[in-house]
Amino acid sequence: MNTKQLDSEYIVHTYGRADVVFTKGKGSELYDETGKRYIDLGAGIAVNTLGIGDTEWLAAVTKQAGTLAHISNLYYTQPCAQLAEMLCTRTGMKKVFFGNSGAEANEGAIKAARKYAHDKYGDTRSTIVTLHNSFHGRTIATLAATGQDTFHTHFGPFPKGFAYVPANDLPAMVAQLDAVPCAAVMMELIQGEGGVIALDPAYVRAVEAECRKRDVLLVIDEVQTGNGRTGELYAYQIYGIHPDIVTTAKGLAGGLPLGVVMFNDRTENVLGRGQHGSTFGGNPVCCAGALSVLSRIDENLLSDVREKAAYIKTALEGTPHVQAVTGLGLMIGIETDKKAADVVGECLKRGVVVLTAHDRVRLLPALNIPMNLLKEAVGILKEVLAS
Ligand SMILES: *Cc1c(COP(=O)(O)O)cnc(C)c1O
Repeated sequence: MNTKQLDSEYIVHTYGRADVVFTKGKGSELYDETGKRYIDLGAGIAVNTLGIGDTEWLAAVTKQAGTLAHISNLYYTQPCAQLAEMLCTRTGMKKVFFGNSGAEANEGAIKAARKYAHDKYGDTRSTIVTLHNSFHGRTIATLAATGQDTFHTHFGPFPKGFAYVPANDLPAMVAQLDAVPCAAVMMELIQGEGGVIALDPAYVRAVEAECRKRDVLLVIDEVQTGNGRTGELYAYQIYGIHPDIVTTAKGLAGGLPLGVVMFNDRTENVLGRGQHGSTFGGNPVCCAGALSVLSRIDENLLSDVREKAAYIKTALEGTPHVQAVTGLGLMIGIETDKKAADVVGECLKRGVVVLTAHDRVRLLPALNIPMNLLKEAVGILKEVLAS
């Protein structure tokens, strides 16, 4: 059997895969099993931050794999400790917890928020408020946190203690915070899976103020927006807020599974010995990859991200069938009256990899995509959109 037949026979059908078997790539170029070349504007869903097979990243990862690939959290390891220091130094957060995915990071954040409230107020304040159209993961608790009804079928009963309010509606948030005692507000600053929709900065700052008044924690889910994607290291830095907990994953380790929960001075000591854990969390190979990625997300790369973002927006705006171009940095949504899935399919045929988010086309290229490839790919995307 060939790859597609094996997949279909032996892997549960949870994914609607595109009809392509990728075999290799370099930077922002991909090749399928027939040798056809593609320009990659998806980066493995915002994971391949510096493209595929980045030389320095590869050297760091292979060196660590050949030295000590795994030993568990029963012992200290250098890449894990160094990455924690780098994350805290670059963000001003105080301590981190490492897991393996976005959902796992958000689980850790939910646990920590509940524990913070429990320590201070007993069992009275467990509710976590999230936004309509949010996405926080696929575990039972992070599905419960996800404010989209379609995710709340099939798998109940879900854990209690989640409430949902419309985004950018401050009175609704205040009413919710007043209605039941809450542990935290958890939100994405740009709703990614929800269609690449950035929250209004004034709303976000007002929510932060309302949280402070009530000693409700502010948890920011930067699983997708983090690690340079938006043109700052973390999107909360653009919004000018000071979250109590920040989660990230996708692009952190440049292609390897790594998630992190970051805590500020209010929350750094909430989780104590034995209260949380993860066998693979902070795996030395993944942390070596993340050290390589993070150390290269500097002001030069970030200003490149902003420049490329401006280029894409300018190039796409005014294209026939394009109604709006949304997002921040290299996290871009294209609102179109065409079916997003058809645009993705047609682009793939023409050698450009793009994604969907709800009814939108979504672009998440590697942060270091060369300008000539970006221009070539955007040119093809424009033709597909306009046709
Ligand atoms: C992708 C994503 C998640 C889930 O991450 P996984 O690594 O798939 O578990 C959670 N939150 C946001 C905002 C995401 O974009």
